[in-house]
Amino acid sequence: MKIHFLGGVDTVTGSQHIIEANGKRVLRDCGLFQGKRKEADLINRALPFDAKSIHSMVLSHAHVDHCGNIPSLVKKGFQGPIYTTTATSELCSIMLRDAAKIQEQDAAYLNQKSNRKGLEPVIPLYTNEDAEKSLPFFRGYRYGDTVEAAPGMAVTFHEAGHILGAALTTFELVEKGRKLRVGFAIDLGRNELPLIRNPEVMKNLDVLVVESTYGDRLHDEPGQAEEQLFQAISKTIARGGKVIIPSFALERAQEIIFHLSSLVSKKRLPRIPIYVDSPMAAAVSKVFEMNYDYLDDDIRALSNIVGSAIEPPWVHFIGSVEESKTISDADTPCVVIAASGMCEHGRVLHHLKHGITNPLHTILIVGFQAQYTLGRRLVEGETKVKIFGDMFERKAEVIVLNAFSAHADRNDLLNYIGLIDPKKVFLAHGETDQRTSLAEALRDQKTGDVFMPVKGDVVEL
Ligand SMILES: [Zn+2]
Repeated sequence: MKIHFLGGVDTVTGSQHIIEANGKRVLRDCGLFQGKRKEADLINRALPFDAKSIHSMVLSHAHVDHCGNIPSLVKKGFQGPIYTTTATSELCSIMLRDAAKIQEQDAAYLNQKSNRKGLEPVIPLYTNEDAEKSLPFFRGYRYGDTVEAAPGMAVTFHEAGHILGAALTTFELVEKGRKLRVGFAIDLGRNELPLIRNPEVMKNLDVLVVESTYGDRLHDEPGQAEEQLFQAISKTIARGGKVIIPSFALERAQEIIFHLSSLVSKKRLPRIPIYVDSPMAAAVSKVFEMNYDYLDDDIRALSNIVGSAIEPPWVHFIGSVEESKTISDADTPCVVIAASGMCEHGRVLHHLKHGITNPLHTILIVGFQAQYTLGRRLVEGETKVKIFGDMFERKAEVIVLNAFSAHADRNDLLNYIGLIDPKKVFLAHGETDQRTSLAEALRDQKTGDVFMPVKGDVVEL
């Protein structure tokens, strides 16, 4: 019985693990590695295993750093079932098509350049057709369901408290009469998120593989998110400005809509126009609407009052590009939620291009901003930034809200791992500093033997 640590081990992207028992291999997650274009492309094109050797796949959730390379897996010959939750399965049909579109657009952009230089054309990592071919392999289950992913390998799904449909998974391994319970908590969410129930504590684990993204950091409490949002918006509206919120289309956009619905229903926010300018966020919101049984009591209670806290009547979902341009050109007070979340592509760039030089406006950062992204430059306070190749002087106020995170912070991780109290803990999905700090704290807390594998390690259990 083995675990292969193949991706998202000492980084927070490109999650891939193989669990092996009785000579069968089950892949847990097949994420896209996201980073600098060249490095990411090399890693994503070369899967670190033979796709045909995989018996089946277990998928934790619909974030692309966990599901985004499934089309490559299928393209390379994987033919097995992909076990996941029903909600994740529905979300993946949106996420994988969108990821394919980005791959195709990227290749077209590079080909324009390489044509000029007479270079070989770039082939996209995968196309929309490849993404669609992978969808029939998905099999949807509910939290609490158990499925035999391979002989002697029963997998159970548990609430992860992370995003809609996200699952922690226990693998009950039986090989030559020996039994072992291995739990995976990647990604692990937080208690008290507004839309999602709290993470379930997996029971009787021998081995826990857990994320460590925020192993040495603390977030503000989720309960503070709404007040922080209110303060930033009311201040901007009072001075006649517009609030531009770059947001991930999945979960964060719906969370912001929920808080705005709550503020409007309490009559704290005036009836200003609220726009969601992301066709993908609109599509994801439809999946949320269809999956109320996955959601927390908070949102069901609010929806009972306002009709729907996911698609409330006072939120306008922008469809056409023309309408998007009209909104981005206007300087009247309003709230615009637009993707992408790190300001790398998508309609948010048009809103930033038109709004960034206006000192009345606010750019509200509500999500993680990776290195080398425009979002990170804004967080770091840069006053001159490039958008669509042109330099702009940033005069709009940038406000960073730290209560919005769907990942466990240091205290959440220590508590969660302490409650499980496994014999062995493997820390993955974290940068070196974060893992090391968390490992030291766990050793002080005396929670099992703590290991920090590196990419490529194969551990005999
Ligand atoms: Zn995630």
